[in-house]
Amino acid sequence: MDIIGIINNVCDVIIENKDYLTDLDREIGDGDHGVNLARGFGKIKEQIDTFKSLKPNEIFNKIAMVLISNVGGASGALYGSAFLKASSFLKQIDNKVDGSQIAEIFNQMIEAIKTRGNSQVCEKTMLDTLVPAQQAFKKAIDENKDLIECFKEMDAKAFEGKESTKNIIATRGRASYLKDRSIGSLDPGSVSSYLIINTIYKSLSGE
Ligand code: ADP
Ligand code: MG
Repeated sequence: MDIIGIINNVCDVIIENKDYLTDLDREIGDGDHGVNLARGFGKIKEQIDTFKSLKPNEIFNKIAMVLISNVGGASGALYGSAFLKASSFLKQIDNKVDGSQIAEIFNQMIEAIKTRGNSQVCEKTMLDTLVPAQQAFKKAIDENKDLIECFKEMDAKAFEGKESTKNIIATRGRASYLKDRSIGSLDPGSVSSYLIINTIYKSLSGE
């Protein structure tokens, strides 16, 4: 499956999980995460046919712009800055991508989120999914594993990472207002990040 097909699947999964993500955000936030993301990914889906003539760095730039201007909330700015960073990295390497470059793209996206959110792992955010997932992908690439296997290992760590947020006290974002009452709930952003990674893996593996 090509990049457009994967993006289309990600849009569908986020839209399908709109209510689930919003319900999670209702527990420890303001109940808009699914609505926010479904609005943004819905706009991406509307424009996806126009992506066919674009280079990957241009596609990532378009996605960033749509997310920044349509999602709203913390997640719009955070995911938007991640795609913007990925776009400039892709441009720098002239869109020549191998496994190590994919690992570096994920790394750059994480760095953009950390900078924008002034955040790190173990604060009950999307980073608790993304960081261990990227590390697993990078490790598998360094061990010369097959690309699908690298995504499989990434997917497994993304799942564990989002589950781990149940036991973390939030120190960033709206959930941090709840302090230890945030324990027991999954972080909505960690779940949307997991859904994105899981969809990439499933799209590539045909699972
Ligand atoms: P808002 O919190 O503004 O309503 P959303 O509900 O769309 O925005 O997104 C909330 C998600 O954003 C959280 O579940 C968390 O994963 C993520 N998030 C919030 N603040 C930060 C931050 N500073 N760093 C990383 N991720 C964050
Ligand atoms: Mg919210």
